Amino acid sequence: MNHITETNLNTVSVPDNFRKIFLNAQNYVRNYFSDIQKDPEKGLIKFSDERYILIRAASMSKEFFDMMTLMYKDRGEEEARNLSFNFLFDIAHSIGKADAKSFFKKMKVKDPIEKLSAGPVHFAYTGWACVKIHPLSNPVPDKNFYLIYDHPYSFEAQAWLEKKEKANFHVCVMSSGYSSGWCEESFGVSLVTAEVECRAKGDRHCRFIMAHPARIKDYIRKYSKKAYIKYEQYTKIDVPEFFKRKRLEDELRTHKAHLEELVRKRTDKLKKANRQFEETNIALKVILKQMEEKEKNDKENFLINIRQSIIPYLKQLGETDLTKGQSVLLNRLEKNINHIASPLIAKLSSTYLNLTPMEIKVAGLVKDGIVNKEIAQVLNVSVNTITSHRYKIRTKLGLKNKSINLRSYLLSLEE
Ligand SMILES: [Zn+2]
Repeated sequence: MNHITETNLNTVSVPDNFRKIFLNAQNYVRNYFSDIQKDPEKGLIKFSDERYILIRAASMSKEFFDMMTLMYKDRGEEEARNLSFNFLFDIAHSIGKADAKSFFKKMKVKDPIEKLSAGPVHFAYTGWACVKIHPLSNPVPDKNFYLIYDHPYSFEAQAWLEKKEKANFHVCVMSSGYSSGWCEESFGVSLVTAEVECRAKGDRHCRFIMAHPARIKDYIRKYSKKAYIKYEQYTKIDVPEFFKRKRLEDELRTHKAHLEELVRKRTDKLKKANRQFEETNIALKVILKQMEEKEKNDKENFLINIRQSIIPYLKQLGETDLTKGQSVLLNRLEKNINHIASPLIAKLSSTYLNLTPMEIKVAGLVKDGIVNKEIAQVLNVSVNTITSHRYKIRTKLGLKNKSINLRSYLLSLEE
């Protein structure tokens, strides 16, 4: 390996106070990349025995966005752009972190500033970027980390400029991702980069601000007050977030699980309420049936009482010698009792009276004043049969051995 030591820092531009440390980095990075081995027969490229792959820059910038816009044309340009943006940022940030980790180990670099200094020189040798760090930068290993830098020859902006197509957003997203990944690994602090101005959009520079995710918006706001571009542009800057998609998916999954749990609980509650409702309904039906049953029994008992304990005595009383006044009173009494009982009688079923269908017919004809002989003719049976039916009807109505006229009794039931 050919070790060359240079005194001219030409792969990166930094404030004077960082010059020495970057020059040191430039020397060992240059040596690292001067040890190159290409073997197309095996499809391999190696630097210092580490395998690398070459990727065409435009394929990962302008042309990648174009392809995604075409693929997602049903979802619109903005969604295609966001998808591409997040995808490229995540890829570049991951590569930046992994490259840094491997490089520090190989070069035995331990100090955070030393690690940071290797970054831009490494970017220069791998074709990622030429970096110009501004003096206002404050690269410290905590939340106050602040880096402001330009990529004057950004491969991403160049892809747009070469196609002579002006972008309507800041296109240098892989540059943002790779540099923030590298620095995050160097300092062990979460870092994120936002491109605040972009040449592909027509700005003078591709300028980046790198900071802790909790601080970056403040730094952008502070910077925007001194910038030559209208303040509004900076308020619209979308700060990339490493694996934003994953975070959104996680949130969505948590939200979905929560919703499913809610639905499950509600369904259980509804099922329980439904069961209780059904049970209550059954109980109510039973009670209602019992009440109906009781009401019917009460009415029937009442009627039986009137028929068996009152009416026969009133009839009997009516057959004794009564004064005219007593007869009137008795008559009144009978009518009143019938009046009280009549609504019940009307409802009284033949089932209760326990008459057979034939007896019901006979009773109907008797009530109409038809004599036995005629009834026998109407029903096409013998007179004896009718006599036998009348006897059974009288028995069932409790008139057996009583001098109560059957027809009068049947009529009285109707009154
Ligand atoms: Zn740019």
